[in-house]
Amino acid sequence: MQIPLKIAEPTPLQDRLQRPLRELRMSVIDRCNFRCTYCMPADSLHGRGIFLPLVKLLTDHEIKDLVQAFVDLGVRKLRITGGEPLVRPGLPGLIQALAAIPKLTDIALTTNGVILPRLADDLAAAGLGRITVSLDTLDEAILDRMSGGKAKLSQILNGISAAESAGFTHIKINTVVQRGVNDHTIMDLLAHFRGSGHSVRLIEYMDVGNCNHWNLTEVVPSAEWIKKINAKWPIRPVQRRTAAETAQRYEYVDGQGEIGLISSISVPFCGGCTRARITADGIFYTCLFANKGTNLMPLVRHNQDRDELRERIRSVWERREDRYSEERGQPGHDQKKVEMYRMGG
Ligand code: SAM
Ligand code: SF4
Ligand code: SF4
Repeated sequence: MQIPLKIAEPTPLQDRLQRPLRELRMSVIDRCNFRCTYCMPADSLHGRGIFLPLVKLLTDHEIKDLVQAFVDLGVRKLRITGGEPLVRPGLPGLIQALAAIPKLTDIALTTNGVILPRLADDLAAAGLGRITVSLDTLDEAILDRMSGGKAKLSQILNGISAAESAGFTHIKINTVVQRGVNDHTIMDLLAHFRGSGHSVRLIEYMDVGNCNHWNLTEVVPSAEWIKKINAKWPIRPVQRRTAAETAQRYEYVDGQGEIGLISSISVPFCGGCTRARITADGIFYTCLFANKGTNLMPLVRHNQDRDELRERIRSVWERREDRYSEERGQPGHDQKKVEMYRMGG
């Protein structure tokens, strides 16, 4: 009898801290229809040339080639982000092309939601798997202020309804919490989504980029929320599915669903960070807080050598040792950073 040959799985690509490359966040545009004060405050956008000219954006074809190269090296999860990804023309077509990549098991999108009524059905048909909608408060006046005068609550809630009608379930609601700004409205937001099947994720306000003039006094540590929420609706921790999960998940004991806490400031999670990021013009970053990246555009535009592209990505990942959140506050870490809307959240 012939013994079948056991084909060894290739050793996963790992960085210097033994973290594999598993997840890619792809920014498809740096422009946005909001001006959130913690991300893209309107007063920071003076002058021309803030946003990439459209000819500098990666084309759909180039994005597909890049994502394929990352999948070849171990990526299985892709998150489409921006800027506001839904303002990129033809996004459903791009999703459809990406959904055809074998081994890419999970395609998710983060959006501010207002264009979902127009696009949710097409995105679902194209093969998008999951949606996250950002919503910081149900208070109209505070939402108006936080979005730089651009967001209307009804539009975002309509966006969530449109995603539900298109068949998306377990929608994540991303909520950035700023002390003295929207923290007093969080319990109302949680009450609204309890029992809906969707899960609110409270995100500690982060020092990403420079234009938001971040200040530690505006951060509400997640531990405060655990105490406060537990006093009103008892909660218990949910086992992490993987070490790479960004949120610590909790479930309501009364069965009304889950919440997540993303505690980049108070409980950094660099040890499990398997995420790469690419900007809409093809710069590859290995950390949300990086100030230097690797330009992959020349390797996908006017160059068909995909081995060269893969080797460049591999060599960057193998040299990676980022752990910004764990080193925050140490000397040398007040560097100039790339803005969140450029890097992709
Ligand atoms: N425009 C889309 C949106 O807002 O959902 C996608 C891009 S946005 C940069 C991605 C996520 O980053 C959003 O959920 C947003 O709330 C979050 N974000 C932006 N600036 C942040 C900051 N300074 N701290 C924490 N989260 C932030
Ligand atoms: Fe736009 Fe999202 Fe940044 Fe708000 S957080 S300004 S919606 S990119
Ligand atoms: Fe990953 Fe950088 Fe965030 Fe740490 S600080 S979790 S390395 S993106």
